[in-house]
Order: sequence, then structure tokens, then C-alpha cells
Amino acid sequence: MAKKKFKAESKRLLDMMINSIYTHKEIFLRELISNASDAIDKIYYKELTDDSLTFDKEKYYIKISSDKENRTLKVCDAGMGMTKEELENNLGIIAKSGSLAFKKENEMKDGHDIIGQFGVGFYSAFMVSEVVTVVSKALGSDEAYKWESKGAEGYTIEQCEKDSVGTDIILKIKENTEDEKYDEFLDEYRLKAIIKKYSDFIRYPIRMNVTESKLKEGTEDEYEDFTEEKTINSMVPIWRKNKMELKTEDYENFYSDKRYGFDKPLKHIHISADGLVRYNAILFIPENIPFDYYSKEFEKGLELYSNGVLIMNKCSDLLPDYFSFVKGMVDSEDLSLNISREMLQHDRQLKLIAKNIKTKIKNELLSMLKHERDEYDKFYEAFGRQLKYGVYDKFGSNKEMLQELLMFYSSKEKKMVTLDEYINRMPEEQKYIYYAAGESVDRIEKLPQIELVSDKGYEILYFTDDIDEFAIKMLMKYKEKEFKSVSSGDLGIESEENKDDNKAENKEDKELFEKMKNILTGKVKDVRVSKRLKNHPVCLANEGEVSIEMEKILNTMPNNQNIQADKILEINVNHEVFKSLKEAYEKDEEKLNLYTSLLYDQALLIEGLPINDPVEFSNNICKIMS
Ligand code: ADP
Repeated sequence: MAKKKFKAESKRLLDMMINSIYTHKEIFLRELISNASDAIDKIYYKELTDDSLTFDKEKYYIKISSDKENRTLKVCDAGMGMTKEELENNLGIIAKSGSLAFKKENEMKDGHDIIGQFGVGFYSAFMVSEVVTVVSKALGSDEAYKWESKGAEGYTIEQCEKDSVGTDIILKIKENTEDEKYDEFLDEYRLKAIIKKYSDFIRYPIRMNVTESKLKEGTEDEYEDFTEEKTINSMVPIWRKNKMELKTEDYENFYSDKRYGFDKPLKHIHISADGLVRYNAILFIPENIPFDYYSKEFEKGLELYSNGVLIMNKCSDLLPDYFSFVKGMVDSEDLSLNISREMLQHDRQLKLIAKNIKTKIKNELLSMLKHERDEYDKFYEAFGRQLKYGVYDKFGSNKEMLQELLMFYSSKEKKMVTLDEYINRMPEEQKYIYYAAGESVDRIEKLPQIELVSDKGYEILYFTDDIDEFAIKMLMKYKEKEFKSVSSGDLGIESEENKDDNKAENKEDKELFEKMKNILTGKVKDVRVSKRLKNHPVCLANEGEVSIEMEKILNTMPNNQNIQADKILEINVNHEVFKSLKEAYEKDEEKLNLYTSLLYDQALLIEGLPINDPVEFSNNICKIMS
């Protein structure tokens, strides 16, 4: 029988896995039990809802058995089973999980991180096994297949005998080494402890032969060993338990058991609702962004149970897009088991639950913001963008829901601040909430446009995310205070100096600006005296709906329509350069052309916009140097 190779990526991951110094090797058992439980979930649901199948609750359990002499550990279930194709596809490739692509991007050094971050399910069996054998018979199939692998080299697959539907995983446990005692994974007590620790809440019995010493009948001090099959786990699903009896650790175990993420959750929310609609839910706010979060592949949703039976893996109707990062599950007695995806969308109960959940998440985030700012900062770093996207999306219809949760970097505090914090410390005469948009905090700090507002002592919010300005355009104002870009025409700041400047714009200067505007036809809408510049000679301001930063972003999009901001070239008339401009205007037309083009190009560069003709620009510089 020919040996099949693992897909290249799987092989690399397996190598890492096998050779990694992973401290929690014991988790392999949790991974296998979870898989077995998932497989039972599937068949349970199928048999409950399909009349042609017989429903037999008795067979839904997971059996663990160890054999010290032969060094084997078995995990058996009567779940859905796998067909030959499924064995190949599910166990022969890992790329599906996307974890490897992620690793490549992030170049983690050893296998440690990747395993910690993603878990690798089934593959973790290779941490403790020399050989892994999977014997499986799928529901509705007459044939059974045996898949076998020693690790990185590949696997074999052949037809075999198996009476009943389900899957047996057989691990040939490694020999002890100097550092690692693999024997422990054959030891009954140790196995029991591992199951209790990680899989106590699995809804199906996890059964194992347990040996106990008992008093020999008819004697008073003679003991003998009894072996009995016992259920190790308590089986009460965590969401049915009393919150008071649960520790954070229990929720964390549930989170990894369910593979909601491979990080630790930042927060959990346990809901037991008993009002208009009855449901239990456990929700998590993850600590890290899932690697595919901001990609098309990411699917939001919560697991949906009807009275303890899983009916849907990812019910997207339960979560609004702006909270799509939330993981977890909902169980309700009020939902019908046979409900279809289409029916669910219109289900009144489900809508009520979704609404309820939305509010709970919002309140949890608000409370985090108020009482655990460090945690909230962490959360916002990961998912703030999604909230801002939520403000913008659906024509701003969710802005009321989300605005209090927003934060932006503050020029004054040098950290993220909320809009409430901003307006609470606004001086009385300050009319607007000022913001400046740019690529990074550093870049914005150097923008000439911020000079006047900064000098006035006003706080400026820095917008460094693409979405920021779009979101703010939707918001328009916060608690009656309008947002104002530092690049906008009218800043609402009238200083003594400015009034003088206005006077300074005499007839002669006007003609000069008119001339410059002609030179820059099609590039700028106007050329004006700047009221905001102090040290810099020139900058771009803008009028109208589309800002310069928005122009940049819109034009990076695939279907860009070459949208242009209305740009105003502002000149600092108190700058040395202005004198040269005037002189050129009076004496040398060619020079004026040259200076005007150069100033315009400079203004573009400061904004981080591409200049139209870099060659001409450098030629122009040479011209003034020589
Ligand atoms: P994950 O469970 O995260 O998808 P795994 O590597 O643990 O990743 O498993 C891959 C797939 O193999 C599972 O999604 C499932 O389809 C299948 N599988 C694993 N174990 C079993 C089992 N005991 N019974 C049926 N299918 C299984």
C-alpha cells in the first residue's frame, strides 16, 4: 500500500509539533475528546431530526481506555464517523485552519507559539504518540477505513472492519525519555485528572475503567481490586451551572475546550435570562484578534443550542457586525429543534435574544471602560477598528449604540481617550472637537496644519486608522459638539493675530494668489493666506465633504473612482518665502511658475500625497540651486 504524503504545510507543522518543547502535552486528550464530542453532537442532532434513523441516547458517550503493556491509549466514540475522503481531507491537511499562513507572516521562531495560539486539534496526538491510528465508519456508509501515521513522513489509509458507526483513535504512546515521562498518559489516575481538568463539562459521559480497592466480602480487613466502568466528567454544561460556583479558570477551560480561540479570553459574560425569553449564554471577548479577523474568511456567529442540543455552529443573526469578535454560545428551550436557517432569521425569540445579547455586550464593554481601563485599552487595540466600522456602517444607524465606546489618540494625553473625556475638559470658548488625520502619530505631529489649534492649547484627536474620518463624518457631532478637521477652511478660532492677517491680504497679494491659482489650474481650488500656519511656509487645506486623508484612502480601494478632495493651497505670508514669491511676481514670471510648482509639491509631500511628476520636481530643485 502506497504511503501518502502530508501536504507540505501540514508536514512542517507536524515537525514543529513533534519537536517542540511544549509544556502542556496533556492537552492532546482534551483535543481528542472535543472532537469526539463534536462528532456525537452531529449524529445526535441528525438522529433526533431524521425520522428514518433510530435514536439511541445510550450510545452517546466517549470511551477512554489505556493498556499499559501495549502502551496504547484509545479514545472511542459512536459519533458521525468519517468517510475515506473525510479521513484524507480532515487529517491529511492542516492548511484549512490557516494557521500556517499566519505563521509565515509572523515568523515565529519555534513551534511553541503556534501551538499555543492555535492549538492544532487532532495533530496534538503526535506530541505523545509514536503512531496514531484512526479507525472510522461514517453514518450511512457500509465501509470502514483505517488511517495511520507515524508523524511527518505521511500516512496510509486502507479499508478495514468496524461494526458500528463512529471513530476509534488509537495512540501508541511514546517511550519515556530522560526528560519526559510519557507513561503518565497510560496511568488511570493521571488520565482521570486530565479529563476532570479540561473536559468536565463535556455533555456526554466520558467513561473509563477505574480500579478501586474494596473490602473483600465477608472479611473486615482484606481488600481486593475491582475494575468498573465509570463516568469521569460531571457533564453539567457550564452554562447551566450557577455563576457563583464557577471560577474564571472554568470559563477559560470552556473557551479552549470549545476552541473559541487559542488565546485566553479577556472577559466572559454569563447570562441566565428568565424573562420574556428564556436562555443561557456564555459569551467571550477574546484577548487577541483571530488571525483571519479582518479578512473575508472570517465568519461571525455564536453556537446555538436548543435545549442542550447543538443546532447551529455559527448563528450569525445573534451578533451585530460591530460585535462580531464575540465568541460563545446560546442555549434556549424556546427554540425549536427543527428550525431551519431561513426560519431562524424571522424567529421572534431569536430576535429577542439577539437584542438582549447586544445590550449585555455593550454594558460589559462600558463597565470595562470605566473600571478596568487597562483591559479596555487592550480590547480596543484589538477590536476598536470594528467599533468604528460599526459607527460608519449602515449609514450610521448604530452610532448611538457605539459612540461612548470610541477612543482616539489625544495630542495632550499622549494616549487613547474617549469622546467624553475630551469634551469634559474642553475650555469654554472652544467650539469644536478638533481632529487631524494622518498615517501615524509621528506624521500627524509634524503636520503644519495643527500649529494654530495646538498653539491655542486645544486638544487634538489623531486619526490614524483608515476608517476614523469616515466614522466621524457619520457621527458629525458628539453631545452637541461638532467635529472639525484641523485642515478645514474655517477652524472657528479668531485670534488677534488672525484679524491682522486678514487685513494684510491687500489687493496686490490677491492678484498674486490669483496668478498662482491659474498656474495650479486643475490642481487646487484656491490659493489663500493661511491663518493657521506659524512656522511652515505652506500647507494644504480642504473644503467640502471629502478630506485629503479620505481621498488617499478612497484611491487605494479596488474600484476607486479617482475621487479628489477640494484642495486649498495656503501660504504663510509671514514666512521668508513669501517675500521671494512677491519679488518673483513683480519681476520674473518664470520664477513665479517655478516657486509655485515647488510650493505645491512640498504641500503634497507634507500630506503624504504623491507628487504628479517627481522628475520635474527634482529638476525644479536643481534650477533654484544653480
Ligand atoms: P478541528 O476540530 O479544529 O476542526 P482537528 O484537527 O481536531 O481540527 O480535526 C479535524 C477534523 O477532523 C474535524 O473538524 C472533524 O471533521 C474531523 N474529526 C476529528 N476527530 C473526529 C472524530 N472523532 N469523529 C469524526 N470526525 C472527526
